[in-house]
Amino acid sequence: MTVQHEAVTDDSTQSLEVWIDQDLCTGDGICVQYAPEVFELDIDGLAYVKSGDDELLQTAGATTPVPLKLLQDVADSAKECPGDCIHVRRVSDRVEVFGPDAG
Ligand code: SF4
Repeated sequence: MTVQHEAVTDDSTQSLEVWIDQDLCTGDGICVQYAPEVFELDIDGLAYVKSGDDELLQTAGATTPVPLKLLQDVADSAKECPGDCIHVRRVSDRVEVFGPDAG
């Protein structure tokens, strides 16, 4: 019987994306402290996600991929977010894995 530990480390099986519900964002910047590579406060005082090449995505509810090496920081952001407005979900089936709607 084969042990399948290898599969867990395969990036493609764990593709995640993150988005922010700006309507609930308090602008405290906790997410930016945890993961400045992924989150940034815009001049409107609300947090937005950034693209992989560091561009701020100013459309409300825009999604960006979560690099595996930043997953812990992004997951912690979602847990600590006072607005409960950071949503991390699987790309494949859009099921939320961290955030207010995670099962
Ligand atoms: S932690 Fe949540 S409420 Fe605070 S700035 Fe980030 S998204 Fe907004």
